[in-house]
Amino acid sequence: MIFDAHCDVLYQLQNDGTKDFQNGDDLHITYQQLVDTGAKIQCFAIFLSPRVKSHNRFDTALEMVDLFYEKILKPNPHIKLVRSKHDIDNLKDNEMGAVLTLEGCESIEENLVKLRALYRLGLRSVGLTWNYANAAADGALEKRGGGLTYFGQSMIKELNKLKIWTDVSHLSEKAFWDTIELAEYPIASHSNCYRICKHPRNLKDDQIKALIQKNGVIGITFVPEFVKENGQAQISDVIRHIDHICSLGGEHHLGFGSDFDGTEKTIPRLSRYKDYEILIESLLKYYSARQVKNFLFDNFVSRFPQ
Ligand SMILES: [Zn+2]
Repeated sequence: MIFDAHCDVLYQLQNDGTKDFQNGDDLHITYQQLVDTGAKIQCFAIFLSPRVKSHNRFDTALEMVDLFYEKILKPNPHIKLVRSKHDIDNLKDNEMGAVLTLEGCESIEENLVKLRALYRLGLRSVGLTWNYANAAADGALEKRGGGLTYFGQSMIKELNKLKIWTDVSHLSEKAFWDTIELAEYPIASHSNCYRICKHPRNLKDDQIKALIQKNGVIGITFVPEFVKENGQAQISDVIRHIDHICSLGGEHHLGFGSDFDGTEKTIPRLSRYKDYEILIESLLKYYSARQVKNFLFDNFVSRFPQ
């Protein structure tokens, strides 16, 4: 059973109406691959391209929610909307769950009513930024590296009240520290270790330790440039990030957030959902079946909001 904390299938479906979630060959994740590969929970992100003009942002987010319902849930009665840990526990053996998440809160437009509206539509995890600054915080690639704004603080307080995840992936380092202080349910849906690959999107050791301290989970991601600085990243390099988090005491605090369909470049033999099988085979050479099950599923599921 696999829990994958981040993918951009909705973004792909929105950009190109010809892409086929059921069984197309132009998506990293399809229904058929999820079924064939033992998927149990897949998170689907609402992500707005920075090109979307401000007056269109909430509408665009709603369009992606609509795609989530029309293209993911409606044609596939075996995929259930997951709103709570209880929903996950209630999935039958032949069912899987889909979680709606937000990557960057541009569409909220400093309006917590819009956040709560998305929550009522199923939203259960919120990343405050993508790579750049917005009303809530600075992202990892914003040069000035600012922290949380006053609005960002109110966002996190609201997420705590709603009891849903605050996702620290993509935040600037300063915004990370501001967030980790406030957030009661922090995760990093798709981030790797800076110690292994020096990229501003990755987490430094003290950040990883803080997430562990806060009972959070870090989703290891397969984006090649976050896996290895120079040369072709391989599955063995992904495992180095897992080893490193374990060495920091994070065996029960790591999972996966593939970023499938959010990245054009992929790792050889880890370039579509079905390749989880190859990753699992490699993991089992170094870790026990119990540990691998924790990484793939239990660590994220056990922290899923009630
Ligand atoms: Zn991302």
